[in-house]
Amino acid sequence: MVLTAIEEYDQLGRDAFLERYGYREARDYFILHNGRQYDSKAIAGVAHRGIGGRPLHASEFSGGAATVGKVLGHLGFLLTSRQDAPPAEAFLEKIRNLDTAVSNGRPKRHQPLTLLWALGRAAHRAERLIPWNATRAEISALIREFGLEGDRPTPEYPVLKLTHFGLWTLPDHPEPPRPSGSPPLGWMSRNQPISGLREWVYDLLTEDQAVRSQATACLLSTYFQDVDQNALLIRVGLGDINDEPLPPPDDARTPERRPTTAMRIVRDSALSLLIKTLHDHTCQICGVRLLLPNGPYAEGAHIRPLGGPHDGHDVAGNLLCLCPNDHVLFDQGAITIKDDLTVINRLTGEPRGTLRTVPGHDIDPQHLAYHRSLY
Ligand SMILES: [Zn+2]
Repeated sequence: MVLTAIEEYDQLGRDAFLERYGYREARDYFILHNGRQYDSKAIAGVAHRGIGGRPLHASEFSGGAATVGKVLGHLGFLLTSRQDAPPAEAFLEKIRNLDTAVSNGRPKRHQPLTLLWALGRAAHRAERLIPWNATRAEISALIREFGLEGDRPTPEYPVLKLTHFGLWTLPDHPEPPRPSGSPPLGWMSRNQPISGLREWVYDLLTEDQAVRSQATACLLSTYFQDVDQNALLIRVGLGDINDEPLPPPDDARTPERRPTTAMRIVRDSALSLLIKTLHDHTCQICGVRLLLPNGPYAEGAHIRPLGGPHDGHDVAGNLLCLCPNDHVLFDQGAITIKDDLTVINRLTGEPRGTLRTVPGHDIDPQHLAYHRSLY
């Protein structure tokens, strides 16, 4: 009914729609749908005809966050006020401030895993709302594989927690139970709710790869520092979605240096693709963004080299997004980076500026120190 009202609003235009049903222009509260704002009270009042047989007049109910906002929110719509941050910022703010339980000083991973799973589904435009049995099976398996030691696979908690936090929705159940105590699982089993990301979150994540990458990187670096992040990305379907052109062919004079399959896999790991996407393929040292005929090109450079004898790990804090020139200079020790991210040209001893950073990708100074120790 809300969607039908929105459709009519689009057909008539704002003024005619408001006039037909007797509403004034909204001052504060709008529904955000497909990137456009709609007067929330008018839409709710008109949608009411599907339940009450006729549209409500403006004087028959009050608008605002506590009434119209609550109902529309439970249906999965995003209510914005004029002053609100745009949805990308609102979403990332929530991702940075998840209310996760703590176990032995470490944040639990139920909600982050649930979100990564949903991010992967949104990236592939998989169905937004799916039945509880399927949700339960998939999130349980992820908690078993990537949760903290001793974590019980209890997907009802993150689903309900994220619902009350405004990211998830159980559209058929406006008053889902609180995620505490033992009732949630029983309630879920009895009601078998379909659930998924709220519509505005899903729309944002299917459309905006940059937001998806930022959210993914933020979750990885906050909750999964000691996890095989590549394996996790691939597992949730986020390993193969950052398409990019093939690297340029190697120098013809050194055919023996043509990358082996193993090198290729390491360099273009899912994590490396994520980091490059996060930086929009812009070199963190010189700011160059190389453009090839079929897209931008950059390389993921490990600060502490992988494998023996260095034993570096393929984690976001150990990766840089570099142009090929600076990658070689860095790998061969012509460049080092100080803890304050000053880039040093070791041949002259002069600083070359400061490493460029983006939100969601923090460099681990331990790895910078290790790299400096090599040279
Ligand atoms: Zn560069």
